[in-house]
Amino acid sequence: MIVIFLGPPGAGKGTQAKRISETRGIPQLSTGDMLRAAIAAKTPIGQKAEEVMARGDLVSDDIVAGIVSDRIDEPDCEKGFLLDGFPRTVPQAEILDRLLEEKNRPVDIVLELQVDQDSLVERLKSRIRDTLASGEEVRPDDNEETFRKRLGVYLEQTAPLIPYYKEKGLVREIDGMASIDEVAAQIDEYLNSLA
Ligand code: AMP
Repeated sequence: MIVIFLGPPGAGKGTQAKRISETRGIPQLSTGDMLRAAIAAKTPIGQKAEEVMARGDLVSDDIVAGIVSDRIDEPDCEKGFLLDGFPRTVPQAEILDRLLEEKNRPVDIVLELQVDQDSLVERLKSRIRDTLASGEEVRPDDNEETFRKRLGVYLEQTAPLIPYYKEKGLVREIDGMASIDEVAAQIDEYLNSLA
C-alpha cells in the first residue's frame, strides 16, 4: 500500500502517519525527519539543507527525490510505505510517478488533511508548549515567523498537488479539525476500502 499524506504544516500528517505505520506495519517516510537526521549527522546533504530548512523554504527537488528514491528501495518498503512530507511540489510528484512506474507500483491513495488555516498557528503554539513540557527541543523552524513562511510555501508550492492527484482520482478528503481518534478512524475507513 502506497499512501501519500497531504496538508499544511501542523495538520497532523506526522501524528497520523506514525499511527498507521504502527498499526499496519509499514514504514513512515518523513522527508523532514530524514533531512533533520542528515543535519544531525552533518552529512553533505544535511549541510546543504540546514539553512534552507531554518528559513522555512523547500530543499531542492533533486536532493529530496534522491533521498526518497534510495529509501523506497530498502526491503522494509516492499509491503508499502507512507509518504509524510513528500512530494511537496509538482515536479517532485512527477519524479515519484516515474520512480514508481519503473517499479510497477502505483500510489494507492492520497489523504488530504483539511484544516482551518487560522487555527494552525494556535496548534503550533500548543505543539511548542507540549514539546517544552516534555523536555524535548523545539525544532528551529517551529517558531511563529518561520511557521507562517512554511504555510505560505505550502499554499504556493504544495497545494497544487491536490488538483494534480484529484485528476488521477486518488484524493480522499479528511476533516483534520476533528479529534486525533476521529481522524484516525476516518483514515482507517479509507484504507480498509482499498483492501
Ligand atoms: P516537515 O518535517 O515535513 O515539516 O519538513 C520540515 C522542512 O524540511 C520543510 O520546511 C522543508 O524545508 C524540508 N522538507 C521536508 N520535506 C521536503 C520536501 N519533500 N521537499 C523539500 N523540502 C522538504
